[in-house]
Amino acid sequence: MFDYQASPQCLQAKVILITGASEGIGRAMALSFAAAGATVLLNGRNIARLESLYDEIVGAGFAEPAICPMDLSSQHYEDYIVLQNSIGETFGRLDGLLHNAGVLGRINPIANTLTQDWLKVMQTNLNAPFFLTKAMLPLLEEAEHGSIVFVSSGVGRQGRANWGAYAASKFGTEGLMQVLSDELDTISNIRVNSLNPGATNTAMRRMAFPGEMASSNPSPASIAAAFLFLMSDDSIGVTGQALNAQQGAAADYQPAVSDDRK
Ligand code: NAP
Repeated sequence: MFDYQASPQCLQAKVILITGASEGIGRAMALSFAAAGATVLLNGRNIARLESLYDEIVGAGFAEPAICPMDLSSQHYEDYIVLQNSIGETFGRLDGLLHNAGVLGRINPIANTLTQDWLKVMQTNLNAPFFLTKAMLPLLEEAEHGSIVFVSSGVGRQGRANWGAYAASKFGTEGLMQVLSDELDTISNIRVNSLNPGATNTAMRRMAFPGEMASSNPSPASIAAAFLFLMSDDSIGVTGQALNAQQGAAADYQPAVSDDRK
């Protein structure tokens, strides 16, 4: 998969919803998917950033995107149904769902983790993907081949001290991916996988590792191949897999320069 060369229009005519598209990895994937022919539906909270991305996509001559602002900290399932209705009325189906939005929370021991911080991270990183997946399944069923991708993390596959709620939320994401994949495998055309981006130069990474030289990590745009693979028909038949976007990518939870145990 690391050598995957996406054909120029590998996402032609696909409709793909991307959560957390306003910056970082989500923004870069929105641009990559649009460049590959997809109509991208841009979720996030920061409307100014989403509008700027919209303008960039339209300015590049790609298919006109749609802005789907929504705060994924909402615990009201009805909000997700409103989004489903609006996508259903406009597009009639959904070919891809990229669960990318995430929050880091505080890096500190479980013993010091505040209950409200734990709940906030769990809501955005784990509960919202469940609500959104459940709401979007009928639209994904309408696609010839649907693809759901959960953006995971190295600490969602191997726990690490102080990564508390974030790590637990990503473990939950991996579990959700596995259960859903197993459920849908024989009864639908929807494949479900998780993808660990690996250390990537974004605001989240810089917050997690303030002592690290940001430019030492790849840009979000440079890790697009694996995302394109999982969203394109080239990955039909691939389901239930926990994949990495970078070779040796468990590295995203290696000790930072500032880690005093290094
Ligand atoms: P980022 O630059 O901080 O971007 C996070 C995105 O999530 C933003 O677009 C933000 O948009 C959105 N978001 C956060 N809370 C939201 C909410 N309540 N409702 C809607 N959108 C929300 O982070 P990133 O590094 O690109 O991370 C993207 C994904 O990759 C995350 O799932 C992260 O866990 C994972 N990951 C990243 C790395 C890395 O090294 N960067 C490594 C492993 C895994 P708004 O502010 O507009 O809401």
